[in-house]
Order: sequence, then C-alpha cells, then structure tokens
Amino acid sequence: MAKEVFSDWTEVIKTTTKPDKESGAVNPSIQMSSTFEQRDFDRFGKWDYARSGNPTRDVLEESIAKLEHGNRGFAFATGMAAISTALLTLNQGDHVILTKNVYGGTFRLVTEVLVKYGIDYTFVDLGNEEELRAAFQDNTKVVYIETPSNPTLQVTDIRLVVEIAHAHQALVFADNTFMTPVLQKPLDLGVDLVVHSATKFLAGHSDILAGLVVTKDEELGKQVYFLQNAMGATLGVSDSWLLLRGIKTLAVRMEKESANALELAEWLEQQPLVTKVNYPGLKNDDNYQVQAKQAKSGGAVLSFDIGSEDNVRQLIKEVKIPIFSVSLGAVESIISYPPKMSHAEMNPVERHERGITDGLIRYSVGLEDIEDLKADLQQAFDKIK
Ligand SMILES: *Cc1c(COP(=O)(O)O)cnc(C)c1O
Repeated sequence: MAKEVFSDWTEVIKTTTKPDKESGAVNPSIQMSSTFEQRDFDRFGKWDYARSGNPTRDVLEESIAKLEHGNRGFAFATGMAAISTALLTLNQGDHVILTKNVYGGTFRLVTEVLVKYGIDYTFVDLGNEEELRAAFQDNTKVVYIETPSNPTLQVTDIRLVVEIAHAHQALVFADNTFMTPVLQKPLDLGVDLVVHSATKFLAGHSDILAGLVVTKDEELGKQVYFLQNAMGATLGVSDSWLLLRGIKTLAVRMEKESANALELAEWLEQQPLVTKVNYPGLKNDDNYQVQAKQAKSGGAVLSFDIGSEDNVRQLIKEVKIPIFSVSLGAVESIISYPPKMSHAEMNPVERHERGITDGLIRYSVGLEDIEDLKADLQQAFDKIK
C-alpha cells in the first residue's frame, strides 16, 4: 500500500495522537517501566529494557522521523546528547568540517572532547565556497551545518554544501533547531542526518531539555541506534510525553511566531536607535534569497544592534514583556545578550568579526500580541534616547 503523506499541519497531530489499543485512551500512555515481561527466552518481545526502546519514546521517535521525512528518529536527554551521539558515528582518525557559526556547546564538544579520541576538525565560513572546498582532507567524513546561525542569523545554502560534501564522499549533518521540520526539511535537500535541540521550538514551552536525531539511510540509522543504546543518554518517558504534547502545536506556533518576528523586524528597521537588524525573512537581508529557496519563512529568532553595551543594559531593565534569559523557541518572548551570554567565552576580536557586536540583542519572538511587543520596545527605546 502506498505510504500516506499528509501536510505537516496534519502530521503534527496525527503522529502524536496514538489511541491505546486496549483502553482507547487517545494519548500514548507514559509507560513507567524500565523492563518488560518476556514470555519466551527464544523470542523476545518488541521491548525488553527501556534504554533500548519503550512504547512512549517510540511514538516520539516515529513522529519526528515522519515530520523530517526521514526513516528513523532517536530521542535523547538533551540536544547536546543528540549531537554527541551523532558525531560519535565518526571514528578515530576521521575529520569533520563545521560551520564556524556553530552552537557553543557543539564547538566545545568538538574542540575539547572529540579531539581526545582522535577526531580532527576544521571550522569554515560556509558563506565562502572556496574556503569550504579547500577544507576537505582525505579523511573528511562529515560536514556539519547549522542554519540560520546563532545569533547573527547567517544562512547556509544547504543544497550547495550537500553537493560539495557528497562529491567528496562526506556526509552532511544539519542542526535544524532554529527552523524545525515545519519550516525547513534538510533531509529533502540532501542532508544525511538532522539533529535538534528539542528543548527549543519542538518542546516550545521552556519546560524540558531534549534532543533528537533523524536519519534516512538505513545503515546510518543502525549506527545511531547502536550508539544511543550503547551510550544511554536517552530521553525519559515523561519528557517524551511532554515533547509529544509540544509538537502538537508546532505548526501553529511556528507560523504565528514567524509572522510576529517578520513584523517586529520590519518595525525595528524603522527605529533610529537600531543600527542593524539580522533576520533572513527580511527582503533586503543578505540571506533572504537562500533562505527563501530552502525554508518557508525566516523563523522566529532575530537579532538587532542598538549601539552599545550601556544601551542594551538599559533596554533589558526597561522591557516589560520578554523574559531576559538564555534559550529560545518558547511561547513567551525571550531576549538575550550574546556577548555576555552564549558567546561570552569568545575573544572580543573574533566576536566582533562575526557580527556579535557590543550592542547586539537576540530576540526569540513568542506568541504575544505583536502590537504589545512593539509598544514595549518603543517605551524602552524612548528612555534610552
Ligand atoms: C540549545 C541548542 C543546542 C543544545 O541543546 P541542549 O538541549 O541545550 O543540549 C544545540 N544547537 C542549537 C542550535 C541550540 O540552540
């Protein structure tokens, strides 16, 4: 029978609502069992020990596999657990090329942990095709991308990187946290493995930590499954259930939050205090063309510059709606100050080179009324001037 394919708006509901066969309960049950009774030692049942798999996590793993148009999904305790497990498919002596705008935790993992096991790396500016081509070595096995990047929203041309990497027999791994599968499907663009910090948009409520991996190739899927079970950083059943709950509203949240972000970005461009707005959904943004051909919108995260650290300090004191914290992708708006938060460890020269200037604020736009969000920033700007 032909596999039925529905729109994402249907799949986020359909894949997360699995009536229980015995009771008819519409939601998957939270199976609080570490072990499963076996009837026969010659033939084990589908589940035996919960690290290897359990009914609640299975529903989540099938859901994310379907949403990303992959074959297998894997759920982990955090985004970093998912990323570590994915990168440990590499062997001693292998080399990985990464975008220099990679998430800080991934940078730390590669430069301080994986090196200890003989996995070598090169960071490149993926906006520079020549730099990428020059970085390949005989032992390059993976090109690791993250698009749009944090916090300057640089966009990587996914199809182009895939073409170059595959010509060098290297796989492409993509961190799809900022877009989620409802805005961007890297596997459809040729990527081999997708990772998520599901802590962000997929869960969507600043309530849990979680990570996901999706593969489409059977062999790669087997390797990830082996490592998930061997290393054991799996997601617990209660958090699996909460993540399923979050996914149900993913499509509606991403659409509304992206629309809010675009409107806020357009408004910010008009403000005298704002010297720069980074948002790939803006038609005049350098990244707009590439973003438009591979994603449905610019997403819900933007950043903007208001000139100085002092201005940022005052803004943070004056705003009444967004929460000031690290993290992003929640129903509530969240602002952060990358130079002193996510990118505090980077040396100032390099930070400035990457556009993470002293007046930069990252804004993860939530579901609040856009007029309220604008008015809130306006009153704060008025106090700075
Ligand atoms: C937060 C984040 C991670 C790490 O995820 P955790 O769930 O915090 O471990 C990885 N990549 C990106 C893009 C992130 O924003």
